[in-house]
Amino acid sequence: MSRTFDAVIVGSGMNALVAGAMLAKDGWSVAICERSDRPGGAIFTSTDTFDGYTVELLSSWHPLFLGGPAYAVLADDLAARGVRYVNTTSPTGVVCADGSAVLSTDPDRNAEQFGALGDLDAWNAMLADFGSKADLAFGLLGTDFWRTKSLGFGWKALRQLGRRGLMASGAELLEPAAPWLDRTFTSPVTKSLLAPWALHNGLGPDDASSAFITKVISAAIAWGGMPVPVGGGVTVVDALVDIITSAGGELRLNADVHKVLVSDDRATGVELADGERIHATRAVLASVTPNALYNHLLADADVAPERRTAASAFRYGRAGIQMHIAMSEAPQWTDPTMRDVALVHVLDGMDSLSESVNASNRGFLPRRPTIVVGQPTTVDPSRAPEGKSLLWIQLQENPRSIRGDLADQISSDGTWSDATLEAYAERVIAQLEPHITNIRTAATARVVLGPQQLESLNANLVGGDPYAGDCRVDQYALWRPLATATGHETGVRGLWQIGASTHPGPGLGGGSGFLVAQRLLS
Ligand SMILES: Cc1cc2nc3c(=O)[nH]c(=O)nc-3n(C[C@H](O)[C@H](O)[C@H](O)COP(=O)(O)OP(=O)(O)OC[C@H]3O[C@@H](n4cnc5c(N)ncnc54)[C@H](O)[C@@H]3O)c2cc1C
Repeated sequence: MSRTFDAVIVGSGMNALVAGAMLAKDGWSVAICERSDRPGGAIFTSTDTFDGYTVELLSSWHPLFLGGPAYAVLADDLAARGVRYVNTTSPTGVVCADGSAVLSTDPDRNAEQFGALGDLDAWNAMLADFGSKADLAFGLLGTDFWRTKSLGFGWKALRQLGRRGLMASGAELLEPAAPWLDRTFTSPVTKSLLAPWALHNGLGPDDASSAFITKVISAAIAWGGMPVPVGGGVTVVDALVDIITSAGGELRLNADVHKVLVSDDRATGVELADGERIHATRAVLASVTPNALYNHLLADADVAPERRTAASAFRYGRAGIQMHIAMSEAPQWTDPTMRDVALVHVLDGMDSLSESVNASNRGFLPRRPTIVVGQPTTVDPSRAPEGKSLLWIQLQENPRSIRGDLADQISSDGTWSDATLEAYAERVIAQLEPHITNIRTAATARVVLGPQQLESLNANLVGGDPYAGDCRVDQYALWRPLATATGHETGVRGLWQIGASTHPGPGLGGGSGFLVAQRLLS
């Protein structure tokens, strides 16, 4: 059995669906092949987990999508299919040993907040400086570096900054967050408010480029808030699939791609695990990791050996853990200003953040983890029955395999067994209890997804790495996915790699799908 389309796309995550929808809008027939029984990849909205609740089991927050170029071209089509975004004026906050703070989208509230912390001038100066270069900063993350067109971006940067300015900006781009925060702000609360955001791009406060990422995300949140789609990410997934299928395309579920078909050095389609072949006349896009692409899907093809070697050496980052709690009432925060905040980081401070990232990089369970407490119902109340609420809790400082416990309390056979995961979840709840006093008494149900569960839900999350590849600078931007295979070209004509393992990296922006679709349509 075989079918032919203009394009075949392996995987159905955000990048695959963005690329598919853009191509479909231009008249291409597109087949999406997804190995699991639902589309969306790291977007997994569930109404079965807790009765009456809508839970984002994996990703939840859409600022990257709404602020990115893919949404700009697809917004009308999504709206026509019923996608509706809601937002909040209190996107993020922090509770730390030195106090608490909220970052708002309201400049007056921020003036009051940073004034009270003694950091108003520093905050304003940071925003003004970043604002004057925002087009370059966001452009850097959205540029297809390996096209001659990108030289225009370099030229613009040179004109805007001058030769010395460009060199200085290069150094600024590489600075870690910890020294930048220490140099710029006085309050430990301000530092703890901003620093954990680097975790959301896979970095720690001592990693190169984490200052740049912290500035980008802080400014984006202060300007754009924390939008989510009403009813969950599934509404966006369904709408993108509908754009593709209504233009003659197909979504194939339980369609595990085992091979990319190559003939005369050109990709001509894919073969599924059951032997079915789906042919592509114009392009094949693979939203998989480099190792899966070069050493599995292209195992029989003529691929440069150095690519295969580099793909085997592609590094994965720390593992993720995702915890969901159904609450019978609103969380009772000791600091009531946290009640309306979409996403609160709970941590001791900069030292615990640095300690936890390093511990997990070395294989140890942190004793004072940084806890991301998402409150989806503060933005979209439809996610829980009237009067009830949900906690979406994320942990980012977890080793993929465990050598020990920094607190010397949890034993492990080296894996994230159910017992280890449960014991670690208890550590997290105990750490939250002084801040959310009813976290145990109002909890009616709890689900914890550890690294093993994440990988079994999505093969791209190797070892539970939510970002499908370490995002430290040698594997980022110009060098993502590989220094020997940069950008989205694969060395096989008509075959493109997209997804979080490729530039511009992880997140719901759909950036790599956008860049490749734009290139195919140009
Ligand atoms: C727990 C978690 C929380 C997150 N929270 C946020 C958030 O709130 N906001 C945000 O912006 N980002 C968040 N992220 C990051 C973001 O969700 C991901 O980076 C992004 O969704 C990845 O999209 P992708 O296009 O790379 O594809 P993915 O979503 O990774 O999907 C890839 C798909 O390809 C399929 N596939 C793989 N191999 C094959 C094959 N051989 N054949 C067929 N199908 C195959 C997989 O089954 C999967 O469905 C989160 C990630 C995780 C894991």
